[in-house]
Amino acid sequence: MTTFTHLECIRCRRRHEATSRQARCACGGVLLVRYDFELARASWSRDWVRNGPVNLWRYAPVLPVRQADSIVSLGEGMTPLLLVSRVAGEVGAARLWIKQEGANPTGSWKARRMALAVSMARELGFRGVTIASPGNAAIALAAYAAAAGLPATIALPSNAQPSTRAECLLYGARLVEGSGAEAGAEAGAWRDVGPWREPYALEGAKTLGYELAEQFNWEPPDAIVCPCGSGLGLVALWKAFTELRELGWTAGRLPKLVGVTLEGPGSRVAGFAPPVLALFPELAQGTPEAEELVRCALDETGGARIEVGAAELAEIALKMASREGILPSLEGAACIQAVTHAIRQGILVREDRIVVVNPVTGLRRLDLYLRRVDVPESGQAARQGGLITPR
Ligand SMILES: [Zn+2]
Repeated sequence: MTTFTHLECIRCRRRHEATSRQARCACGGVLLVRYDFELARASWSRDWVRNGPVNLWRYAPVLPVRQADSIVSLGEGMTPLLLVSRVAGEVGAARLWIKQEGANPTGSWKARRMALAVSMARELGFRGVTIASPGNAAIALAAYAAAAGLPATIALPSNAQPSTRAECLLYGARLVEGSGAEAGAEAGAWRDVGPWREPYALEGAKTLGYELAEQFNWEPPDAIVCPCGSGLGLVALWKAFTELRELGWTAGRLPKLVGVTLEGPGSRVAGFAPPVLALFPELAQGTPEAEELVRCALDETGGARIEVGAAELAEIALKMASREGILPSLEGAACIQAVTHAIRQGILVREDRIVVVNPVTGLRRLDLYLRRVDVPESGQAARQGGLITPR
């Protein structure tokens, strides 16, 4: 029941068939998925959504999959949206919510992208899938490929976490070293599902915007703060809210989009040797091929890119944990910190209804937090009669 009509090149505006296996336009431009919104308005409603599946497939009419049996799902989407009033006061916001994307399958928002990219790879008859990614996307792809019964080849950088390697291997992926995902993409038989390398991951990422609109009862928040990374998350949110307006389901201005990046590529998390960007590519500055799209997304919504320092991120995360019961990833902590900067710079105002996206579960990199808490050794606890807290 999709209303998918065609693909459109963002550079030369050329239309491509919806059934095309092309990754990009011949001119090199990124392809965006377009729908028949007149048909969607006539055949779909917010009531239908309310009674739809409890995952991102509740938005199927504005997703590209044509055949129901192409769908590969691990229950992605419909993640919790939590009001965090104690931390809100500290960052200077009146109303602050955290969108817990770590509750997705494989613990990150990349599940949304891989659900769509892999479903479409299957629908279009690709024989395998591949990606070059240092972490969350690699793990998500490995899992969705396993669910689809498709082989996956993943290019990990040499400094990838051992736990990332382990997770990919557990899902049966083949690992290669390096930064290029060429491994296996030969002759167009395999699909490279990296950011901006095919049109459909963006459609999965877009469901975060639809979901936020629905969770706010179709009165979207005033601002959404999320990591910049490849820029795909920001552009996907912009596309979602533009489409929702076209559907007539939301009115008023688009939520201001704030893309969070790290100050200087050499920033470090206290106590850790590798520069933080090697650990957290989600906080990168974007990729050149999408720069124009990202700029449009930020300008048109009245948002901006905000840089934060790495030094205090662990502290912010631990404060969230002890005051709100939520342990965010360092990327999520960076977004919380960015709220203070954005208010100070006048991009957001105190009264805005602000959503911070926590893209990854804090448990993925528990090692980064363990040095910040005093954990008694088990023997020591036993000698104290099992009491760990001070008397
Ligand atoms: Zn083109």
